[in-house]
Amino acid sequence: MSDRIENVVIVGSGPAGYTAALYTSRANLEPLVVEGFMWGGLLQTTTDVENYPGFPEGIMGPELMQKLRDQAERFGTRFLTDEATELRLADEPGGIHEVVVGGETIKARTVVLSMGAEHKKLGVPGEEELANQGVSYCATCDAAFFRDRVILVVGGGDSAFEEAIFLSKFGSKVVLVHRRDEFRASKIMVDRARAAENLELKTPFVVEELHHGEGPYERVATLRNTVTGETEELAFGGAFIAIGHEPQSAVVRGQIDVDDEGYVKVQGRSTRTNKPGVFAAGDLVDHTYRQAITAAGSGCQAALDAEWYLRDTPEVPTPESIPHGDLAEAQWAATRS
Ligand code: NAP
Repeated sequence: MSDRIENVVIVGSGPAGYTAALYTSRANLEPLVVEGFMWGGLLQTTTDVENYPGFPEGIMGPELMQKLRDQAERFGTRFLTDEATELRLADEPGGIHEVVVGGETIKARTVVLSMGAEHKKLGVPGEEELANQGVSYCATCDAAFFRDRVILVVGGGDSAFEEAIFLSKFGSKVVLVHRRDEFRASKIMVDRARAAENLELKTPFVVEELHHGEGPYERVATLRNTVTGETEELAFGGAFIAIGHEPQSAVVRGQIDVDDEGYVKVQGRSTRTNKPGVFAAGDLVDHTYRQAITAAGSGCQAALDAEWYLRDTPEVPTPESIPHGDLAEAQWAATRS
């Protein structure tokens, strides 16, 4: 185990994590980002982002994430492209937190949690069996496999519509199935979908089951009309499930307060969690707005909260926590003056 005590360890790397890294690196806190294997979060799997301010022509999700990462790196952010498998969070103000990555323990005075959210599963028979064999959660990743085939999209939010519109450029036909007649998606997305010739909006239907069809690349969905109760079969090549997200809070559950849906709870308008020196931002916290720009904004808040905490909270001095290096020595001296 290294003796170094980090000022800030950021766990997660979407817009929230990289913005927290940008701000804390510009504050000379030398943040370390544990960015996961799929760095960049869910935006890595999206196409055009047209509502992130500053990009009037729009920008592709992966390109935006690369830019945010580069910007944080420019000011000295360090990255570990690995997962945090365990967090041991101190209870007392000034306590040292531990983040386990690849079997190594990293010590930190503050931790910013920004693990984001993952795609929700339908939970119907056949979904797991057909995953990566016709069932996908990422149109940008898998659309090309289903060129000129019938493509099923499930969901009624912006994600489902974004995927369906994108997929309509690949599939012979796209059928978007949604359980209600009203859509949660923004009007502009619904209008665009309605304008696409090969895109059908099929409501109010739920998917009851997914299974293999006759041929090797044919799959079948059993759909049930939620009003009449009648069922019908729909043959398709690929299905894309886009029914929302689940917060990735498992690694801190039991230590950090979460709500009924697993979103990390923060205090008031701050990013402070129930543990001193531990802050949370982005989709891990937010089930209301969930936009790239709001996640980035909350990453900025988390960075400022961490910076102020470091400024105002003396480190609990333990022989083990005596840090090394010029910056760490200066901090150590400050706690004793
Ligand atoms: P969402 O807005 O929560 O929509 C999820 C959709 O899936 C809802 O229509 C919901 O139906 C349906 N659903 C949920 N569970 C289901 C189940 N078990 N079976 C069948 N249907 C189910 O999620 P999202 O579309 O992923 O969007 C998340 C956030 O990201 C939103 O704030 C959205 O605006 C944002 N986003 C923005 C863009 C963009 O602006 N370009 C793109 C993507 C996402 P009900 O409506 O009946 O609940």
